[in-house]
Amino acid sequence: MSILVMKFGGTSVATPDRIRRAAKRVGREVANGHDVIVIVSAMAGETNKLVGYVEETSPMFDAREYDAIVSSGEQVTAGLMALTLQEMDVPARSWHGWQVPLRTTSTHSAARIIEIPTGNIAAKFAEGMKVAVIAGFQGISPEGRITTLGRGGSDTTAVAFAAAFGAVRCDIYTDVDGVYTTDPRISDKARKLDRIAFEEMLELASLGAKVLQTRSVELAMRFKVPLRVLSSFGDMDENAGTLVCDEEDIVESNVVAGVAYSRDEAKMTLISVADRPGIAAAIFGPLSESGVNVDMIVQNISEEGRTDMTFSCPVNQVARAEQAMQAAKDAGEINFHDLVADTAVAKVSVVGIGMRSHAGVAAQMFKALRDEGINIKVITTSEIKISVLIDRKYMELAVQALHDTFELEKPSAA
Ligand code: ADP
Ligand code: ASP
Ligand code: MG
Repeated sequence: MSILVMKFGGTSVATPDRIRRAAKRVGREVANGHDVIVIVSAMAGETNKLVGYVEETSPMFDAREYDAIVSSGEQVTAGLMALTLQEMDVPARSWHGWQVPLRTTSTHSAARIIEIPTGNIAAKFAEGMKVAVIAGFQGISPEGRITTLGRGGSDTTAVAFAAAFGAVRCDIYTDVDGVYTTDPRISDKARKLDRIAFEEMLELASLGAKVLQTRSVELAMRFKVPLRVLSSFGDMDENAGTLVCDEEDIVESNVVAGVAYSRDEAKMTLISVADRPGIAAAIFGPLSESGVNVDMIVQNISEEGRTDMTFSCPVNQVARAEQAMQAAKDAGEINFHDLVADTAVAKVSVVGIGMRSHAGVAAQMFKALRDEGINIKVITTSEIKISVLIDRKYMELAVQALHDTFELEKPSAA
């Protein structure tokens, strides 16, 4: 029996009527001969609402209770989806993460999947059940507490189930009809890609394109899960979406595949720290221990044995970073004159595996930004991406300028 995984995101299950529309798609795949594992997100807006309740109740909340609370959104939609399918005479039942059990690490709110035993669900399929509906985004820790997989984590639940069950494919149904050259909400010139390589998708996701959670792409790449992104709205037949696949399976592509952005960044500068061996370890060790996700790092030119050290991190971690640096200063581990935080920056990145063999992408990127009068604050590069930190107010302009300069609206501009 072939197993198909179908994941429906928040907007696709936002109301009982939308759940019915999604269930019809599931019913059609059952009629096509598949046993289906459906992964559902919480109804649109529900997770944000629950996170708001947690923060209102307890600003320095216990992460175990956070997970107990925010996982409930998915539990509601899983039950509703199973009921809807039953109403359509499709044999279905729901599972919460802990019932599977989807075993994870105990890193609450950012847990990683350890194992998905298949026996429980496979036995139900053998008895004639046609659809297993799984509450996405959640699992159970070794201590027996509910965990969640980080925002957007239902994508990862879906790919992990597809890998565990050897599914023929993992279809991610969302509110756009595929992966675009950039967020279609930012640029109306964004073009839907028929295919994108795992590595490019991985970079785009980790640089901010939230259409897929980064970890889900990592898992799909590692376990060779055919992954498709498509819309849950519109006509059922014509929607081919975007296939995320191996680089070899892509015939034509641009040097730059896409532009990603991350809006809520902060740039922190430690003014006048001693330029001596071990200084980076003395700064970034405590930051890491405090759970600050440092992204870009620049050490400035040193003068008379002192230098400025700049790094970026998510804007909501600024207070934590300041605390960690002050504590390290008080403990005599580092010394600095001042810590300056710029909380109004954004990161914009271009990604493409073609950059491995094409020089000049960085120069073209910097020129396009210059032509718009956008100042670059920090730059980082890797083999297939270039990221810049800029003032947040220019973010959309930068995305559009980069999309234009690399002619991403045209297929195979290279
Ligand atoms: P879901 O609730 O279905 O998981 P998300 O909101 O998490 O949906 O992800 C879909 C959104 O991702 C789209 O509405 C779009 O605004 C955004 N997005 C960002 N970058 C891209 C991109 N390159 N291609 C498509 N969508 C993108
Ligand atoms: N509901 C969760 C979130 O909003 C998980 C998901 O939708 O993937 O982050
Ligand atoms: Mg999502």
